[in-house]
Amino acid sequence: MRVRKALMGCASIALAVTTLTACGGDDGDGSSNGNEGGGILNQERITIGVRFDQPGLGLDTGGDAPEGFDIEIARIIIEGLGIPEENVTWRETVSANREPFLQNGTVDIVVATYTINEERASVIDFAGPYYVAGQDLLVPVDSDIQGPDDLTSEHIVCSVNGSTPAERIQTDYPDVQLQLFDTYSQCVEQLAAGAVHAVTTDDIILAGYASQEQYAGQFRVVGQPFSEEPYGIGIAEEDTEGCRRINEILAEAIESGAYEEAWNATLGASGTPAPSIEPPDGSWCD
Ligand code: GLU
Repeated sequence: MRVRKALMGCASIALAVTTLTACGGDDGDGSSNGNEGGGILNQERITIGVRFDQPGLGLDTGGDAPEGFDIEIARIIIEGLGIPEENVTWRETVSANREPFLQNGTVDIVVATYTINEERASVIDFAGPYYVAGQDLLVPVDSDIQGPDDLTSEHIVCSVNGSTPAERIQTDYPDVQLQLFDTYSQCVEQLAAGAVHAVTTDDIILAGYASQEQYAGQFRVVGQPFSEEPYGIGIAEEDTEGCRRINEILAEAIESGAYEEAWNATLGASGTPAPSIEPPDGSWCD
């Protein structure tokens, strides 16, 4: 049983980590996505919140759409909804503004390495999961850090405002010096500059940075995942029908092989086989 809605929202996000961008839009263009409401099943256009700086998952390379596994999952969804890609607005979201963007209608859905959890599900709904990641550490190749238990008060670890990995460091490793930014690419720049000892977030995100050409040979992912991060598609709490439809579309994509193709075209390009994933059971839609 989940406690729905009520007192959460911006205040609860600010509780974990405080930033100005945590609540509300980040560019002052108002809070509406221009749609009339009524849910994604009644829309001809859709605004999708995605990442712009996560290689392999959601990366803006200057083209019409960002690239990566999350983008391919979003494409599967819009195809299933019958919305042509020219009617899609790809909107950058960072970790801390995902719930606010869904709540105030800035975006219709979020496909952005978005961990399903009770706290978030008290203010929005989730279709999925469509992937399960695990929190890990990215360190310089010559670092002594072999896992989270090696972290001490001497270490500065970088993560992102409003993310589950940042929260877990605060609760489970309170002695560690946590440095917070809005995006993981900022953390990786700090790591490259030697200003932090490690970056922490989901293993699949860290692997993308480690394999980026500009950082070739510099970092390694420690490979000791210390959480489960089931990725869901965020949708407004009112849009239960839309959420259920996305679950059907995901189930069809798993069955048809479209899910595997999305993987192979992105994160699986280096040969890692697609994960085997169950069709969503719908428990996070209502
Ligand atoms: N999956 C985690 C989360 O949703 C970390 C990645 C991210 O910040 O997007 O918080």
